[in-house]
Amino acid sequence: MTTLRQRMIELLREEELDALDLSQILSIREKEVYEHLPHIAKSVAAAGETLVIHPYVCLNCEYTFKERSRFNRPGRCPRCREGHIRMATYIIR
Ligand SMILES: [Zn+2]
Repeated sequence: MTTLRQRMIELLREEELDALDLSQILSIREKEVYEHLPHIAKSVAAAGETLVIHPYVCLNCEYTFKERSRFNRPGRCPRCREGHIRMATYIIR
């Protein structure tokens, strides 16, 4: 578990990735990526770094999910009710 999170941290220090990228690279389910991300945010913060989140964006009306506290994918846009959402991306700075 620790090793997997460490690998995620190393990947996110190198480049900006979304949850699907991380699930493919690490051979884990997308759902598991969302479970690890809050822990990663905490551990990098303890090391003086930041998990920078570029939020989900509605591809129909460009609504940005800035206030989203959870990491998992939103089902639908609260503004236009469309379901075409661009993935959030993450990078450690
Ligand atoms: Zn929308």
